[in-house]
Amino acid sequence: MAEILVLAEHSGETVKKVTGELLTLARRFGEPAAVWFGPGAEAGRERLAEFGAVRVYVADGDDLDDYVVAPKAEVLAALVAAKSPAAVLMAATPEGKEVAGRLAVSHGSGVITDAVGLAFHGDGTGLVAEQSIFGGAIIVQSRVRTGTPIVAVRPNSATPEPAPGPAELEPVAVELTDAAKAAHITERVVQERGERPELTEAAIVVSGGRGVGGAENFALIEKLADSVGAAVGASRAATDAGWYPHQFQVGQTGKTVSPQLYLAVGISGAIQHRAGMQTSKTIMVINKDPEAPIFDLADFGVVGDLFTVVPQLTEEIEKRAGT
Ligand SMILES: Cc1cc2nc3c(=O)[nH]c(=O)nc-3n(C[C@H](O)[C@H](O)[C@H](O)COP(=O)(O)OP(=O)(O)OC[C@H]3O[C@@H](n4cnc5c(N)ncnc54)[C@H](O)[C@@H]3O)c2cc1C
Repeated sequence: MAEILVLAEHSGETVKKVTGELLTLARRFGEPAAVWFGPGAEAGRERLAEFGAVRVYVADGDDLDDYVVAPKAEVLAALVAAKSPAAVLMAATPEGKEVAGRLAVSHGSGVITDAVGLAFHGDGTGLVAEQSIFGGAIIVQSRVRTGTPIVAVRPNSATPEPAPGPAELEPVAVELTDAAKAAHITERVVQERGERPELTEAAIVVSGGRGVGGAENFALIEKLADSVGAAVGASRAATDAGWYPHQFQVGQTGKTVSPQLYLAVGISGAIQHRAGMQTSKTIMVINKDPEAPIFDLADFGVVGDLFTVVPQLTEEIEKRAGT
């Protein structure tokens, strides 16, 4: 069975959830092999094994971590040449997409980004990726016809399903060209993070919009989010007003999220906001205007004042959770 290479997303020793999703997808189409960059592969191995990685190509070296994405694309290109995998999968994060683009160019292969699903083509001639475009208004099915399919898949596009694999570690020789070393990392600043999950990876996202009415009221949104272990998002109206930091903006010019549950509170549902959340599996809306366009997307909707509904909802969730 042909290998499917999966670029492992990790933070040192912790394997990110999206990697389990990619390995789960890869298992459907071939033999999943993870590619690990930098130190920590020993520690991450167990998690990769849990999701069926047959082997883990480990590219580590003194200088590999000192440069931005080019070395990853270069090492992956060498692996693709050596192993002839049936496809390469990576997360559709900014870094993943850049690696995908560089790899495609260096290999003369086709690339698909922001896939939200993968399937076998009916005639058995390869992978078909599903993309959601024009703000989620249209679903496109695309196929790579040239070279090795390189597909960047959005986090939360698949449910990670455990299926044990040996995850044998296999070191990969790293010899970087001068071109790959052109952009050098001079300093790293660790982003301060609270307890909440990362926005683009979270299974549940609770977002607040202009209806929240002020920065201080975002405490309501945060409390609701914390009651269900969710990430907090915001519409651009809320971030532009300075009520919530821009890094949490969801939409065309913000983050794209695709959680199991997206809860939109006091958000009207402008096309630019929908572009960032429309592929969420279940959408719940709280809005006082029954005509708000966001209700067109909603699986569940509450027409009501958020200042009444959100505290009641949070209280009920906390009561049921026994907190
Ligand atoms: C180029 C471009 C890029 C953009 N990119 C983005 C983007 O990435 N993300 C994004 O979000 N927007 C983006 N926008 C802005 C977008 O067009 C909308 O202006 C924005 O999404 C509106 O935010 P909102 O829904 O929070 O506010 P509004 O449209 O003002 O809606 C507020 C909603 O809150 C409801 N409400 C008010 N009070 C209450 C209450 N007490 N209880 C319950 N409901 C209440 C109202 O009924 C209303 O539906 C972009 C615009 C442009 C032009």
